[in-house]
Amino acid sequence: MVRDALARPLRDLRISVTDRCNFRCSYCMPREVFNEDYPYLAREEILSFEELEHLVASLIPLGIEKVRLTGGEPLLRRDFVKLVEKISAHDVEVAVTTNGVLLESQAEALADAGLDRVTVSLDALDNETFQKMTDSDVDVSVVLAGIDAAIAAGLTPVKVNAVVRRGVNEHAIQDLVNYFRGTGVIVRFIEYMDVGSSNSWRLEEVISAKEIRDILLEKIDLMVIPPQDASHVAKLWQTTEGDKIGFITSISEPFCGDCSRGRISSEGKFYNCLFAENGFNLKPYLRAKATSSEIQELVSSVWTKRSDRYSELRSEPEIEGRIRLPVEMSHIGG
Ligand code: SAM
Ligand code: SF4
Ligand code: SF4
Repeated sequence: MVRDALARPLRDLRISVTDRCNFRCSYCMPREVFNEDYPYLAREEILSFEELEHLVASLIPLGIEKVRLTGGEPLLRRDFVKLVEKISAHDVEVAVTTNGVLLESQAEALADAGLDRVTVSLDALDNETFQKMTDSDVDVSVVLAGIDAAIAAGLTPVKVNAVVRRGVNEHAIQDLVNYFRGTGVIVRFIEYMDVGSSNSWRLEEVISAKEIRDILLEKIDLMVIPPQDASHVAKLWQTTEGDKIGFITSISEPFCGDCSRGRISSEGKFYNCLFAENGFNLKPYLRAKATSSEIQELVSSVWTKRSDRYSELRSEPEIEGRIRLPVEMSHIGG
């Protein structure tokens, strides 16, 4: 198993399968930037299914246990089910993060293709806030139907990720927890992050996990669940009836010390960190038909030098003054 300079293993691989999306969430792909003039990648620039499968198969011996397919919106990728089928043929857990718009129609086929789990992003239950945050006219019922279809297809436990922004969707905190009580769905609240260079992030808009919990505690009792595995990003709590609620505290309580996630951008660059400024371009090697051991060696040499821990350093002066990071969440995958 490969370890980085801080002794962290490479256990999870997050792969962005497309840089395109059918939403324009203001915290991720604001429409002013991601409009028709934005230089999206051309089809031949993104990794093919064969290249992705070869990459995953090559990296499993380094210790990869889980592959998360994300984006952009992964379900927009043509024949996405076939990619899931290819990756699931290998000895790894396969998960997808999606905005859920196309989930109702694809959930069963994805489960049949070997998908293990799905995470659906959903920031509010009322149409007004939902449409404002996603900058779309999609009805929230479409995403809720996608979640139901995922549960029916056995892609459980379904997780729902909600980014909370001050002054925008605080009211959704209680709504989401109430709505999913008793369904087995794990609602996870994500602190709004300063990722990419387009979202004009401001610390004042971040609502910390503690604040979110305090809002919940006004109405319900919650108990902390002791962590089972340090590499899990969410800190879990539960209601008295056993409904799990997660908090992803990238800002208030960073978890870089246990970060075992490598990331592949849609154009085939390997990134050590969500906030990395540069990635190692694997595409030329994949296109030149590099063998598994060659790919393994390249990624090992990048990972063994890894000392990234951006979230832990965020407030230190040399980072604070830095120009905003160039890699967009939609390229590198959330
Ligand atoms: N389109 C899919 C979706 O939304 O689930 C997958 C890609 S999206 C980039 C993955 C996750 O990143 C989503 O749960 C989204 O809410 C989260 N995300 C995007 N921008 C973020 C930000 N600035 N802060 C925190 N989370 C963010
Ligand atoms: Fe699209 Fe997901 Fe980003 Fe929203 S968070 S714009 S759904 S990639
Ligand atoms: Fe991992 Fe980088 Fe996030 Fe820290 S900031 S948890 S190293 S991805």
